[in-house]
Amino acid sequence: MELTAVTDLPEIRPGDDIAELVADRADLEPGDVLTVASTIVSKAEGRTADLEEYPVSGRAKELAERIGAVAGEEKDPRFAQAVLEESTELLIECPFMLTETHFGHICVNAGIDRSNVPDHDLLLLPRKPAESAERIRAGLAERGDEDVAVIVTDTCGRPFRHGQRGVALGWAGLPASRDWRGERDRDGRELGVTVQSVVDELASAANLVTGEGADGTPAVVVRDWAFGDLEGSDELFRDVEDDLVRQALREWKFEP
Ligand code: GDP
Ligand code: MN
Ligand code: MN
Repeated sequence: MELTAVTDLPEIRPGDDIAELVADRADLEPGDVLTVASTIVSKAEGRTADLEEYPVSGRAKELAERIGAVAGEEKDPRFAQAVLEESTELLIECPFMLTETHFGHICVNAGIDRSNVPDHDLLLLPRKPAESAERIRAGLAERGDEDVAVIVTDTCGRPFRHGQRGVALGWAGLPASRDWRGERDRDGRELGVTVQSVVDELASAANLVTGEGADGTPAVVVRDWAFGDLEGSDELFRDVEDDLVRQALREWKFEP
């Protein structure tokens, strides 16, 4: 397996065609997976915003005050308002906002970024990253790069462990996960639970190449990797009913 950054991509502007920009710079082959940082997908889709666009509700004001008091630094209530508007559920209110986005991904601050955003205060996540991935995949096929799978990624923290890593927000052209259940280990024991989140694993690997700062390499080509002949599934986000951690969070309150 080989991961190679697409070089010389420009600063992405609203309306830019990511498929075209990548196709012009990368020699893609059938079976490749292209990972694209959500940052540039959002920029291309015009998902930038400014704090002044968010009139503050009472709820946002209260959240910002609580978080500010605990963190010991001022929290802009307009930012809290933006997070609320990008979310369907607030799972942790304080000392940080952990929310579910409209497309089902759970992350801090609804994934709103304040880095790598020239001319605007905020960069929101793509509205529907799966559709973004599908659009880029179709755009590549139109330009003769057939059968390239696409994963839209973000850098995200996780519970229980320090450090952030790449995750998949949306994908097209491959299943989300590979189901190992029913396969056998080296001793012949049948695997009972392992469903490997392939799109997250590819996103994490690619994120090492992407970098987090000024590298300017938001797109990565993954080559010589095959999904294989195991069953796949498109489930990535758990339903609330089978997500015990999420249910527990609904009951939990932060006590400073
Ligand atoms: P995120 O993980 O999707 O939130 O994106 P990051 O802010 O971590 O950026 C990922 C990569 O994309 C880094 O290498 C950035 O330098 C790069 N990047 C961000 N915006 C642009 C852009 O408009 N053009 C180019 N060429 N690179 C960008
Ligand atoms: Mn991000
Ligand atoms: Mn990143």
